[in-house]
Amino acid sequence: MIVAIDGPAGAGKSTVARKLAERLGFSYLDTGAMYRALTWLAMREALPLAEGDAIGELARRHPVVFDEAGRVFIDNCDVSSAIRQSRIDRMVPVVARHHEVREVMRERQRELGHQGNVVIEGRDIGTVVAPDAEVKIYLHADPGIRAARRQAERPDIGPDALATDLRTRDASDRVRMQPAEDAELIDTTDLEVDDVVSRIEELIRTRSLAKS
Ligand code: C5P
Repeated sequence: MIVAIDGPAGAGKSTVARKLAERLGFSYLDTGAMYRALTWLAMREALPLAEGDAIGELARRHPVVFDEAGRVFIDNCDVSSAIRQSRIDRMVPVVARHHEVREVMRERQRELGHQGNVVIEGRDIGTVVAPDAEVKIYLHADPGIRAARRQAERPDIGPDALATDLRTRDASDRVRMQPAEDAELIDTTDLEVDDVVSRIEELIRTRSLAKS
């Protein structure tokens, strides 16, 4: 079974998806981490981020790898912490918008995601990567709350700059951020992580019962 969890930054995707996977005994795939790792590598190589064919070629040559502990590797480097910096937040949509890059990522995500039961989080999972996912969730939340959540994870940047970055990233991601028509929308603004996870578990149970 594939559970697709999409939504904008700070809506709670990673925390919810990780916890859900743990509770269900499913594996977990963070597709945002893949775009982040590629952005990190393109910046290290000083490649022009606006050139889709060069970045697409880089993606093809350097597949992103996850280990058992969820650490993220590219070109044999552990980039798990390096990709969670505001300089990467800012540049990742520039890399992610190239169709050459998205093609490579989509292939790799399907390869990683179609091995048994998995929770996949991202922006286009329910629409493009796994349109056949049995359960599709779209998490959203009030922008102020999303910025506050992100602030806790980004000590390298002040609140005003962070809110501006989030708005800019939302605007560039929006083309890929539409919920799937058959996605369940959950507003996480006033919800605890456990409540969101329980709600999704309930949904999975209902869908599984309806199928059997
Ligand atoms: O989810 P996260 O904030 O880590 O995603 C980082 C960026 O990667 C997003 O802002 C978006 O530009 C890109 N992304 C994407 N498609 C996905 C996942 C992430 O374009 N499925």
